[in-house]
Amino acid sequence: MALGEFELIERFFTRPASKATLGVGDDCALLTPAPGMQLCITSDMLVEGRHFLSTVAPRRLGHKALAVNLSDLAACGAEPLAFTLALSLPRADEAFLAGFAAGLWTLAERHGIELVGGDTTAGPLNLCITALGQVPAGSALLRSGARPGDELWVSGTLGDARAALEVFRGNLSLQGLAEGSFERLREAMELPEPRVALGQRLRGIASAAIDVSDGLLGDLGHVLRRSGVGARVELTALPRSATLGALPEALQRECLLHGGDDYELLFTAPAARSDAVREAGREAGVPVTRIGLIEPGSALRVVDAAGQALPVAARGFDHFRT
Ligand code: ADP
Ligand code: MG
Repeated sequence: MALGEFELIERFFTRPASKATLGVGDDCALLTPAPGMQLCITSDMLVEGRHFLSTVAPRRLGHKALAVNLSDLAACGAEPLAFTLALSLPRADEAFLAGFAAGLWTLAERHGIELVGGDTTAGPLNLCITALGQVPAGSALLRSGARPGDELWVSGTLGDARAALEVFRGNLSLQGLAEGSFERLREAMELPEPRVALGQRLRGIASAAIDVSDGLLGDLGHVLRRSGVGARVELTALPRSATLGALPEALQRECLLHGGDDYELLFTAPAARSDAVREAGREAGVPVTRIGLIEPGSALRVVDAAGQALPVAARGFDHFRT
């Protein structure tokens, strides 16, 4: 007999709550925030064909659905607490659910975040997670705090997820890639590592932060607008993997500046705090790279090794404009 809705929830998505006062099973979950803490709340939806390809392994999909939400918590400097999962599924496929749940729980356990509720319905494959985290009141990292003279930093490397997408799209041939390269690019796309520890360590150091999900320049543009400042980005400083660095220059540039799905932290900090930024990166075990400077005005400039401005559009991904 087919798996029913409540059996499915019970089997794959119910575990005893530890941080929450009450988890799955009632009309609402109950959470008791610690005194002096503020809740950080974020939602991200993944739609088949839009955010993931039908070829992705269910386990990786479970990881990514939660990872993109943890990345938003990281960008605010939040400590993860709890999440809800709204699922729309074409059918109750046990193999799919087992893989999806395994990827989800493995990442959830690593970050001490627990599933406290959700909704399950039949329909096109669509996954929506709402995640809750906490920060000491007033200490959340925001997009609006960048000031002229601040340095611009990014974690990890950029562009690999986009390069993988170009392979799937048929624009980049596997023949030109070294052994193992495609699997590494594909992991960047399907198994992003949210920078949760780094985000928390940047509280009190970074002046502004965002996670890069829609391309570096598009997401930087959000910080600049919210902060009322401009910026200069050094193309040669942008951190890239050896695999990306071996690709044709024009493709590299496109992936670095406009590629989506990086889930790295892009942040600013006063120049006097650069040692503290490096220390935060070391403690979190994540490389951090200085990639430019915040400037007065509102212009976003990308400069080459000679300091020449490159003609680039500050466009990010927009679901209704592509
Ligand atoms: P209601 O009808 O009151 O909204 P449901 O019958 O939809 O509740 O869900 C029953 C319980 O299971 C609730 O506690 C709900 O939060 C939880 N739940 C439903 N779907 C999921 C899911 N995909 N993951 C985790 N919990 C879920
Ligand atoms: Mg109810």
